[in-house]
Amino acid sequence: MFERDTDIYCNRDALREDYQPDELVGRDDELNRYKTALQPVINGEQPNNIFLYGKTGVGKTAGTRFLLDHLVDDAAQYDDIELTVKMLNCDGLSSSYQIATRLVNKFRNESNQISTTGYPRSTVYSMLWDELDKYGGTILIVLDEVDHINDDSILYQLPRARANGNLSEAKIGIIGISNDFSFRDDLSPKVKSSLCEEELQFPAYDAQELIEILQQRADVAFHDDVLDSGVIELCAAYGAKDAGDARQSLDLLMKAGDLARDRDTETITENLVRDAREELERGRIREGISGLTQHGHLVLYALITLEQQGETPVRSRDIRPRYTSFAEQISVDPLVPRRMRDHLGELSMLGIISAVERNEGRRGGTYRQYSVDMDVNMVLTALEETITEVGVHESVADKFDQDTTLGKYT
Ligand code: ADP
Ligand code: MG
Repeated sequence: MFERDTDIYCNRDALREDYQPDELVGRDDELNRYKTALQPVINGEQPNNIFLYGKTGVGKTAGTRFLLDHLVDDAAQYDDIELTVKMLNCDGLSSSYQIATRLVNKFRNESNQISTTGYPRSTVYSMLWDELDKYGGTILIVLDEVDHINDDSILYQLPRARANGNLSEAKIGIIGISNDFSFRDDLSPKVKSSLCEEELQFPAYDAQELIEILQQRADVAFHDDVLDSGVIELCAAYGAKDAGDARQSLDLLMKAGDLARDRDTETITENLVRDAREELERGRIREGISGLTQHGHLVLYALITLEQQGETPVRSRDIRPRYTSFAEQISVDPLVPRRMRDHLGELSMLGIISAVERNEGRRGGTYRQYSVDMDVNMVLTALEETITEVGVHESVADKFDQDTTLGKYT
């Protein structure tokens, strides 16, 4: 039944996020500064605390892994340096308490793990200081995606542990990595001054840099001559336009490779890249829409039927009757106009609909008009559950099987 595909990829995993490339391309200046900030470790001095920020997919995690791997290797040649590096991703962890228990467990062996609930916070902190001092030497703790933490107690305690007399043996340095720059601004001044001793920023990639990154991975991932000329450039151009995010560009290239494999083509063409992008886009819409509440779905459904009838751009008060009738159809109380407008605002923030500001002219006052920004079929597919409940409106009936048409609304 199953047969191995070998025509397109020689190593598909090289396009995945967790693949660590041997060399990083196009980040020389940033990595040099990062290296300088880490230099005290090799000198046997107290490490700097470092705060690294930049948007997602700009090489923060990859760059940190890359430098720390080298640091560990190079530190091994000096007998007087005992270096330990622990990385913790804070995604899914929201409190200092959770971070502290995870850290304690990272320093303990399998048989000696602590429960992640149930201790007073001060107890967990003392356990942490004990573990760190037992290890001794130089310890670097990387808190990746640190912006997920809601209270900054640990971000104050860790960098200051030695100054506060909690540690006597270990020299620790914290590396905090954040996707969100406002996180730094919101830190209290005392945390900021201890955690952000050295600040580094990784900017978004431009198209040229993305080309280099993609080329490097493509060489490992694909067989020779699989990529048509222009494919890498196209993926990079989309990536640069979207957010300068290397992860997104790599995902696009991988999606194009997967489509080539599914469709049994010998090469990856620019057209496949366009199809791949559309498919990824559809996934994003589906995800965006599935995250909305029921009222969000009803508002969007109302708007899209008006769009199909050529009534858009349309004002909120003219969407309302359709929305209300849909809500009543499933026995849900319609929201007051202002709350309904909040949902329109959320939809436009997600890029699913667009809102245009209009002026009433001399009588003053402005209002907004809404229309659907995304492919109608994509949105209808994502709304399928709501449409099944409410019934298929006549304006979109031609897009559905007649049997599922449940009612008519005006
Ligand atoms: P961040 O942590 O900033 O969100 P990552 O470090 O996870 O981003 O990078 C996203 C993806 O892009 C990873 O697969 C990574 O290997 C790759 N990447 C990012 N920057 C580079 C670079 N300069 N050279 C090679 N690959 C890179
Ligand atoms: Mg990261």
